Order: sequence, then C-alpha cells, then structure tokens
Amino acid sequence: MAQPTTLRQLVEWATRQLEQADLFYGHGTDNPMDEAVYLVFGSLRIPFDVPEAALDEPLSGAQCLRVRKRVEQRIESRQPAAYLLGEAWFCGLPFHVNEHVLVPRSPFAELIQEGFQPWLNREPRRILDIGTGSGCIAIACALAFPQARVDATDISNQALEIAARNAERHGVQDRLQLITSDVFSHLEGERYDLIVSNPPYVSQADIETLPAEYRHEPVLGLAGGGDGLDIVRRMLAEAGEHLTEDGVLIVEVGLMQERLAVTMPELPFIWLEFEQGGEGVFLLHHSELQSVKG
Ligand code: GLN
Repeated sequence: MAQPTTLRQLVEWATRQLEQADLFYGHGTDNPMDEAVYLVFGSLRIPFDVPEAALDEPLSGAQCLRVRKRVEQRIESRQPAAYLLGEAWFCGLPFHVNEHVLVPRSPFAELIQEGFQPWLNREPRRILDIGTGSGCIAIACALAFPQARVDATDISNQALEIAARNAERHGVQDRLQLITSDVFSHLEGERYDLIVSNPPYVSQADIETLPAEYRHEPVLGLAGGGDGLDIVRRMLAEAGEHLTEDGVLIVEVGLMQERLAVTMPELPFIWLEFEQGGEGVFLLHHSELQSVKG
C-alpha cells in the first residue's frame, strides 16, 4: 500500500503496526485501534471529534512523519502513549502527565461521573484524595462538586507539580489544596466527608512481572510493599480519625480485593460494581473504621 497520508489511513496503518507488535494496553486504552487513534490524533494535536470529512483530507509530509515516528517509538520503547504525548484523558478531561505520575486510569471515573450515587447522603463539603499523582481524581471530584474544597496529597513533590499544572488547567486551583504528605502524616486534625484513593497496591512479587509499559511509570505509585497492602493498611488504621461522622472512605485495591478481604475479615467492605469495567474498589463508613488497629 502507498504511504498513508490522511487521518483515516494513518489510523489504519498505526492499528496494523500496533497489532503486529507485542504491546500491553491498559494505560488509557485497551486495544490497538483505540491506541492508534490516541497516538495519531494526539501527535497532531487534532481533537477527537473532528468532522468526518477531515478524516480523508491529505496531511503534510511533516505531519505524517511525526505520526510514524510516534508509533515506532511506542513500539520500540514500550512507553505508554500518554507519556509520549504528555497528555492523558480521565473522566472525559485532558490531563498533563509525565513519568513522575501514573497514567490516569481507574474505575473511580465512573463513580465521579455519577456523583458517587447512591453512596453519599449529601454533597461533600471537604474531600481528600490520597496519592493524587497527576491530580486527575481530585480535580474531577472538584469539578463534580463545585461547592467542595478538595485536599490532594502525594509523597512526591514532582507529582504535585504536575497536579498543580492540571489544577490550573481546569480552573480549580482556588478550591484544591496540594499537600506533601505520606498518607495522613501532614493532615493532623483534618476531617473529610469523602476520602478517595487509588494508592500503590502492587505486591513485590507482582512488580517483577509487570509488562514493560509499567517500568516507565514511577514505582512509588505502584509498589505497595511485600503483599501490596502496606499503604492500604495504614489508610484503614487512620481513616477513622479523618472522616466526619457520616463520611466515607473509598479505595481502589484492584486485584488485591480478595487478599484484603481475607486479611481483614472484621471489616464489612462494600465492593462497588462498575458498568464500564473495573473492580476491586471498596467503601467503608466512618463508624466501621473506628476499631481498626494499625
Ligand atoms: N495494576 C494496577 C493498575 O495498573 C496498579 C495501580 C496501583 O497500584 N494503583 O491500575
């Protein structure tokens, strides 16, 4: 086939290249075609919703070359597309990303889009996001609850710099406070109506076997100690002191769901269900966290 010269041809070409390569999907897309669209449109900074007719207009040689290079880079380096483009999408919103933050992805998006219904009795006034990374969950929460004040922590100042850029980008910097904190270490005396977190929860053994794409992500955002649950245990031990009386804690632990349920059988975890895919997100109420010992 002749060289691809239109958006449609470039997407078809990129899809074939990606299909033939041994890549891992799961950093924003889950298949070669969506990844191809993301790489082609993202490399050219063209919005995804261009009119149909634009798909068949010829592009310049420089544009085509830029796309081809990006696709080759994705295949050769195994970097997630988000890092190559410097941008990722979460809750329908664009976020700056670099190698200091995990690529945004979490079933939290669905919860946020539904305003956490039916789990909250009233609009939360204060929200905390622990381990915010790019800030995507905290910022999407701030936009979903325009009256709320949101605190977002991370142990990594490099991550908080990215979160600050994203907060500005989405105009929530006045309601979003970024705090350097190791879980609750710098939040003494603070209480929240809603605490959310997608903490590091990959076990030591699993870290060794992750696909190459994950090696480009900050290990701080993934590694949860020996059995993966070190950070989650600390969160459970201290969350009771940081929730208001009818506050809730919602945490993603992914495939660690079973391990957590077995190690802490005394806790009445509610495991949330998702229509758009994903699992391993639990909810606990303030009253259920009172007796947890660290
Ligand atoms: N395997 C998980 C993921 O890719 C790990 C994320 C995490 O530790 N928070 O989403």
